[in-house]
Amino acid sequence: MTFEHTRNRRLVLLGWAVFGVLVLASCRGPITPTPLPPSPALRPTFTASPLPSPLPPSPMPPPELPTPTPTSVPCAGPVCVLPGHFMLAWPVPPPDAATLAYYPFGGTARGRRDPHHGLDLPAAQGDPVLAPASGEVVFAGPDDAPEHLLAPWPNYYGQAVVLRHTFPGLPQPVFTLFGHLETITVTVGQQVAQGDLIGTVGSRGVAVGPHLHLEVRLGQNTYDAVQNPLLWLRPPEGMSVVAWRITDPQGNPIYFNGTSSAVSVIPADASSAPLYLETYADPNLAGDPQWHETQALGNLPAGSYRLQVVALGCPHELLLTAEPGRLTVVYWRLLPCP
Ligand SMILES: [Zn+2]
Repeated sequence: MTFEHTRNRRLVLLGWAVFGVLVLASCRGPITPTPLPPSPALRPTFTASPLPSPLPPSPMPPPELPTPTPTSVPCAGPVCVLPGHFMLAWPVPPPDAATLAYYPFGGTARGRRDPHHGLDLPAAQGDPVLAPASGEVVFAGPDDAPEHLLAPWPNYYGQAVVLRHTFPGLPQPVFTLFGHLETITVTVGQQVAQGDLIGTVGSRGVAVGPHLHLEVRLGQNTYDAVQNPLLWLRPPEGMSVVAWRITDPQGNPIYFNGTSSAVSVIPADASSAPLYLETYADPNLAGDPQWHETQALGNLPAGSYRLQVVALGCPHELLLTAEPGRLTVVYWRLLPCP
């Protein structure tokens, strides 16, 4: 919901070899994680695991599917490289992965905030907000009246625009929500094209400083119909999106939330700092209807990454390759600790 511009961070990692990655952060800003210590106890636990949903087994998609594609592609796991939904353009310039990791979709900023139902995109007051695809304006104005609520609380987004999009091959409409707008330049019922100006960035509603709060709502324009926008936004040139679902040996998802644990995303060549992500903290956020991810990270430079978690009493690691312009979905079933 909020984005903080000047952000000092502190983070403490404790118990890496025991039970968890303990991440503590101040209320003042983004987290500067302490690098995880190398651990000889890391165990490759990459195993073939079945889909967490009753999807029938499906062959892997061919390596060169056209992108973007309007439909999702089933993934038989354990690692699938997919076209992603990627039907939306960025309404403001895309931030880097570290910014996206700070208060990710479904996250709580280390337990300090409500589970995030969107992405916070950094932008300056008055910056233009552009329609990410053609569509119809279904909401434009303040969300403070009971009949105009877009969230469980009045005035959560201050001023907002909601667009309704339809895409060939996708049976459900897709709604995009733009919150905290300073000005609105469209009206309900208006048709817009991708790139049209719909408003300007502001800080109205529950916001700390100007930024754009972006939501993607699938099927219906409701607070709990949200999906991770990173599965829908086209990655910038050379960038990739990685989504994961981490489960115990029985296939039950393991969540990494709050101050006690996180999923580490570490460039294999150590070219940039590790990133630490929570998983979706709101039980109403079930992930993509087909992929059932519990978190995703976008705008990652293409390359190899190590995912690390501490769970079940020991550390685990998985190596993956993120391809440019593609979505990598990882179903990671952890092995029991020795
Ligand atoms: Zn937000």
